[in-house]
Amino acid sequence: MPASSLESIVSLSKRRGIIFPSSAIYGGLGSTWDYGPLGVELKNNVKRAWWRSVVHERDDMEGLDAAILMNRLVWKYSGHEATFSDPMTDCRVCRARPRADHLFLAQKGREPKGLPEINAAIAARELKCPKCGSTDLTEARPFNLMFKTTVGAVDTGDESALAYLRPETAQGIFVNFGNVLDTMRRKLPFGIAQIGKAFRNEITPGNFTFRTREFEQMEIEYFVKPGEDEAAHQAWIDARTAWYHDLGLRPENLRQREQEKHELAHYAKRCVDLEYRFPMGWSELEGIANRTDFDLLAHSRGPSNPDSLEELRYFDPEQKKHIVPYVIEPSAGADRATLAFLCDAYEEALVKEPPEAETAKLKELVGSFARSVEKRDKLDPDVKARLLASAAAIEAGLPGTLPALLGLGDDPEANRIEVFKKVRGVADKLGEEFTRTVLRLDPRLAPISAAVFPLKKNEPRLVELARSIKRDLQAEGIHTVYDDTGAIGKLYRRQDEIGTPYCLTVDFQSLEDGTVTVRDRDTMAQQRAGRGELAALVKPKRRAPR
Ligand code: ATP
Repeated sequence: MPASSLESIVSLSKRRGIIFPSSAIYGGLGSTWDYGPLGVELKNNVKRAWWRSVVHERDDMEGLDAAILMNRLVWKYSGHEATFSDPMTDCRVCRARPRADHLFLAQKGREPKGLPEINAAIAARELKCPKCGSTDLTEARPFNLMFKTTVGAVDTGDESALAYLRPETAQGIFVNFGNVLDTMRRKLPFGIAQIGKAFRNEITPGNFTFRTREFEQMEIEYFVKPGEDEAAHQAWIDARTAWYHDLGLRPENLRQREQEKHELAHYAKRCVDLEYRFPMGWSELEGIANRTDFDLLAHSRGPSNPDSLEELRYFDPEQKKHIVPYVIEPSAGADRATLAFLCDAYEEALVKEPPEAETAKLKELVGSFARSVEKRDKLDPDVKARLLASAAAIEAGLPGTLPALLGLGDDPEANRIEVFKKVRGVADKLGEEFTRTVLRLDPRLAPISAAVFPLKKNEPRLVELARSIKRDLQAEGIHTVYDDTGAIGKLYRRQDEIGTPYCLTVDFQSLEDGTVTVRDRDTMAQQRAGRGELAALVKPKRRAPR
């Protein structure tokens, strides 16, 4: 079972150097995160896998790395200055400022058709403040999501120096369409891929790295002749779905969702979202849209755009005339993909059964925790029901449910119940000995590919051999670490938690015959292998599907 709560991923990430809250020593900055030593490896592997698949392994794609700061006119003609906004309303009673479209969806059970429909509902007092319940809400107004900055040494105070941090990487591709077409002598169909930071002043960031104000996108603009757009669109939907499957995302946790007519941008012909079943529910991982000729036309010189210096079009040698290509846009988030891979790979498992007496003691404690929850009259009824259901399922299934009990340890509501401290004390102790957390990441994504340990750190010959094996593997381009900071069992657990597919232990037999013990993360099976075989064995490759 993949992670059942985001808290377990947040806590593992913090504990093991994957993702930290940003600027924590100054109290942090809401919803901003820093990728730590292992997180940067993981995210880089995700980005590399994407680049390899959509640029290197295809014959119809080019790469690009455009600037974050662009001429402001880009955002004028793309439509972002006028329309890239969320509708906000203010509660006149408690001063909360919720997103009005979210209120509409949550309280009326469907997406609103537009701002007028939202405002009609507000005027009819049909929407309530999510904080205080009042229906005294102001008319919803659009709030632009672009971050503003100024360019140049002097802040003139007027708008001449105004620039935006790009809210998407796509526009950098459109304005370079002509450059890539000419310099690479491309014929349609062809595409341009780009990975880079994007910034949105999101009103409701949250769910860890799922929605942040600074994030990284992996975007493709694929240019085709009009008429060939629908087939190309479907091919990209299939290819992108296959990419997630190939990297180990469980098929039952990934789905394609066809956007409904009223959700589509006015210029889009069709859009399919790839959604992942995150612990908080099905949510967008990637959007794949047929944007027709909207973007290239918008940036082309003409009556509606006197500022552009170019016409973004293509000379079709067959028709012997200029045409404006259609564009298919598979637009993914590097952070969301990384989070999905983390959630999907996360597993807490029982490795052996604790003694019966220990299990019985734990059962009794979980029972008294449930009784204590039951007695709490002031507890929110939903929280109460959730805690009682978890406790009942855990109590019935112990010791097999010990990992679930450890997961409950990340739940702040459970921790508010006094007796849970005792439950945790016993569970944590048993967890140390009888369970393990393992990240079953595809080896091509794992932050570290192999870890080498000497059986004894005060035995120089073992240390030297282990270190030289690490150097051998590193020379083969395999990211390998050396570690001697604990007993072998502890070192295995640590590597399991960060998803290292192989651990290699150098022992006294290694000194005699040159073989080492290779331990597999997923099966925990151990085999001996000669030094010369190691690189082929541990080189990152595709795992058989789970
Ligand atoms: P959402 O509906 O979740 O706000 P969106 O439809 O606005 O997303 P797009 O503009 O299509 O998103 O951006 C493409 C991709 O960029 C998304 O599928 C997502 O993976 C990523 N992305 C967008 N906004 C954010 C964000 N605030 N934080 C992290 N990733 C994001």
